[in-house]
Amino acid sequence: MSDEWGFDTAQVHAGAAPDAGTGARATPIFATSSFVYDSAEQAAAQFLLEDLDGYGYTRMGNPTTAVAERRIAALEGGAAAVATASGQSATALALLNLVRAGDHIVMASQIYGGTTNLLAQRFAEIGIALSVVPVDDLDAWRAAIRPSTRAFFVESIGNPTGVVADLEALAAIAHETARVPLLVDNTLATPYLLRPLEHGADVVVHSTTKFLSGHGTVIGGVVVDGATFDFGAEPERWPGFHVPDAGHGEGGYWERFSPQRQAYSRRLRSTVLRDYGPAPSPFNSFLLIQGLETLSLRMRQHVANAEAVVAHLVAHPRVERVHYPTRPGTPWSETAARLLPRGGGAIVSFDIAGGIDAGRRFVDSVRLFSHLANVGDVRSLVIHPASTTNSSQTPAQRAAAGIGEGLIRLSIGIEDAADLIADLDRALAA
Ligand code: PLP
Repeated sequence: MSDEWGFDTAQVHAGAAPDAGTGARATPIFATSSFVYDSAEQAAAQFLLEDLDGYGYTRMGNPTTAVAERRIAALEGGAAAVATASGQSATALALLNLVRAGDHIVMASQIYGGTTNLLAQRFAEIGIALSVVPVDDLDAWRAAIRPSTRAFFVESIGNPTGVVADLEALAAIAHETARVPLLVDNTLATPYLLRPLEHGADVVVHSTTKFLSGHGTVIGGVVVDGATFDFGAEPERWPGFHVPDAGHGEGGYWERFSPQRQAYSRRLRSTVLRDYGPAPSPFNSFLLIQGLETLSLRMRQHVANAEAVVAHLVAHPRVERVHYPTRPGTPWSETAARLLPRGGGAIVSFDIAGGIDAGRRFVDSVRLFSHLANVGDVRSLVIHPASTTNSSQTPAQRAAAGIGEGLIRLSIGIEDAADLIADLDRALAA
């Protein structure tokens, strides 16, 4: 593996080698729950985290999954990655590696509805407090900070309205004022369009269900650590990194693993993933690897098609407003120009004239677009967020997230743009 490789080479080769035992060139599916120890001594060393090279049990690591983890870490420019069973569990574990009861998180309001459910409902039940602020109101981020704040959480491109987070500005507030890491959900951008670690983020999470797998076949997630946050500067604020963990031998994670840039990722794998348990299946990791190998090719076509659809919708009389990250005239257009030189991705949303009834009629009238709750498929997808993905939010919460009652979200696939536009025109006419 080479740090010099370009993106297109790394997405095919990083983290993989021909199988040592068989010569298999593609990464095999290691469909095994467990791995035989060489000796009693090696078994004990694994449990003490003294032997980190071998595998023991697929809940904590698997050779197929490890290829996907190393490859995504390389594509994001991170020190290490830990794969999980879903994007939801990636977000949950990335935060549970930092916070405990009594702590507080600041999150952007323009965010995937499932993340809002997790942080505003489930985390509240276990005593973790939350403030929700507009992603582009930097004063609101500063004002939300408490002594108990332990993380900032944003999406690089907000789902579904395409607001682009000013990662440098948020990282400066996170690091200098709050003294906490900045976590970024980079699902909608993918590392092909944007690498948050290069703009000050400390940790990146993905729903690999979306573009990284790319074909609508897998549920998965990943947490990538940049190993940039200094958990040693104020040890009393980060007990999880300094108090030795039962059964893991002497010393805290920071002392033992920060020299190898593995403190956050090792703790994530050996405590939160081990104990909560949402490990990916090796078969899903195999499908994820297949997807990663064509990521840049697909993203180029997704972006070209999305730009064609945006241009068409903007000019359509039945469309009131089109939301897309790189559209001119948005409050974040300068940020988008700086962070997204390769384009704004595949998610296009729009407010339809006629509100909620027109929106429902629209999703019932498309034929090529599939009406379903996903994004990031090679196929084009459509949904009405207010009655589906964001239905557990109040209208006020939806409004804060920029989701009007008649908003339609499209995930533009890699088909012929002309066919997509014809389908949209048919549904708009209905
Ligand atoms: N983050 C974003 C931006 C998403 O769109 C989603 C799912 O739609 C998730 C996280 C959750 O991922 P998953 O559905 O893989 O659990």
